[in-house]
This record gives sequence, structure tokens and C-alpha cells, in this order.
Amino acid sequence: MDSVLSIKDLKVVFSGFQALKGVTLDVGDREIVTIIGPNGAGKSTLLDAIVGKSPVAAGHVYYHGREITNRSPHEIARMGLGRKFQNPNVYNGLTIFENILLALKGEHGIFSSLTSKLTRAKKDKIAWVLDRIGLLDKAYMKVSSLSHGQKQWVEIGMVIAQDPSIILLDEPTAGMTSDETHLTGEIIKIISQDHSVVVIEHDMEFVKQIAQRIIVLHQGEKLAEGTVSEVQNNPKVIEVYLGRERIDVAA
Ligand code: ADP
Ligand code: MG
Repeated sequence: MDSVLSIKDLKVVFSGFQALKGVTLDVGDREIVTIIGPNGAGKSTLLDAIVGKSPVAAGHVYYHGREITNRSPHEIARMGLGRKFQNPNVYNGLTIFENILLALKGEHGIFSSLTSKLTRAKKDKIAWVLDRIGLLDKAYMKVSSLSHGQKQWVEIGMVIAQDPSIILLDEPTAGMTSDETHLTGEIIKIISQDHSVVVIEHDMEFVKQIAQRIIVLHQGEKLAEGTVSEVQNNPKVIEVYLGRERIDVAA
């Protein structure tokens, strides 16, 4: 398999505390990899380490075979890794269309982006992004009037507007209604037609909806890896989840 992202024995240490104790994983082209695990397992730290936000103490991160370990977040983003954080980072006073415009690759600053003439290619690109996130019919609505879930989709749109080859999503459905959660799963499946996707998630219904391969993190280590049913039937996983959120949520 040609990996888009390849992580080898990654370790992250915060003042003596080992948040990641040697995690290895690969993400293939246009693959969806879902990461689950109890609070504090190191899921967000793993994404932070990949994008250069948490210092890597040992191990390696390769992107399309090139080592990117401990490069700056800016440089890593420019190379084509897109990361969406837990809280939407959108311009509320602007329309959805304008938000996507500002996120397009090669845009420099709000003023020049919003005042310069739009080329056909840019308009088409924005329409393509809006279609992917299911908001094409709301293009000229202000972001401030959108629901929490719709704002999250706008931010996903802002990430794909930059043409990343891989997108990392940290709990994209947090705070969403169940309808919004389901739609987010459909959006992720559509996005995976063009991009690899790594999703951190704890809602097992959602995981079942999107998951191809699941990785379970626990106390900074990979506890299990496999399909939904392999992971659900793994005794180590069952033990970790006992007395917590149950992993075998009834379908
Ligand atoms: P998850 O996303 O799986 O809930 P995190 O990756 O956020 O877990 O955190 C993993 C562990 O690392 C937790 O014990 C957390 O307290 C610790 N941690 C995360 N970030 C920092 C930091 N910047 N400084 C110190 N400890 C941190
Ligand atoms: Mg987290």
C-alpha cells in the first residue's frame, strides 16, 4: 500500500508524562481511518504531533514518504495536511461563500480576497466545495445564521478548499444533533472520494456509519486495530470500555 501518512513509533512527552508511548499507523490514499479511545488516550495529541503542534520526542511522521517530523505547523499545512480543530474557526459576519473563498489556496488577506474580481475557476471551485459539504443552496447565507452543525461543515469546507491530500478531523460531530451527525458521516464519505481522512470520534453509531478501519488508542498506545466488528469483539477493547461508554451500542 502506498501510504499518504505513515507514523512510526511516535512518542510525545509532556514534562515527563508520556502522552504517546510509541504509536505506529499508516493511512492509505482515500482511506478513512477512525481513531477511538477513552478520554485522555492521546487521540488529540496524535493529531497535534502529526501537524507539528506537539513536539515529537521520538519516532517519525512521513507524508507521501517525506519525513515531516517536528516541522512547523505552517509548513506542514502548506505541504497538504489539513486539520480541523474541535471549535469552528469561521468568520461569522461573512457568507458561507466568502468563508470558502478566503480559505482557497493562494488567497492573501481578507481585503484583497473579497474585493478582487472572482475568476470563473474560483467560483467553480467554491461551488464544488459547497456541494461537497451540502451547503450549495445556502452559499449566500451569513455564517452567523447557521446551526452549530452547519458551521462545522463550513469549516470542513475551508479545509478541503486548500486541496489537502489528507484531512484530520478531531471529534467533528461534538455538539451536533443526531441528524447533523448522520449528515456529517455522509459528508466524510463524499470527501473520502478525493482525500484521505483521519477522524477522531466517540459516537459508535457514527463510527459504524463511516468506518473502514478503526484504531483504538488507550493510555498513549494502540490497543487494537481492525474493522468495526473486530474491534468490538476484541477482549482488550471490551475491558477498557467496561464501565464507560459501551462500545457495542445497539444498531
Ligand atoms: P484525548 O484526545 O484522547 O482525550 P489528549 O491527547 O488530549 O487525549 O491527552 C492525552 C494526555 O496528555 C492527557 O492525559 C492530557 O492531560 C495530556 N496532555 C495533552 N496535552 C497536554 C499538554 N499540552 N501538556 C501536558 N499534558 C497534556
Ligand atoms: Mg481529544
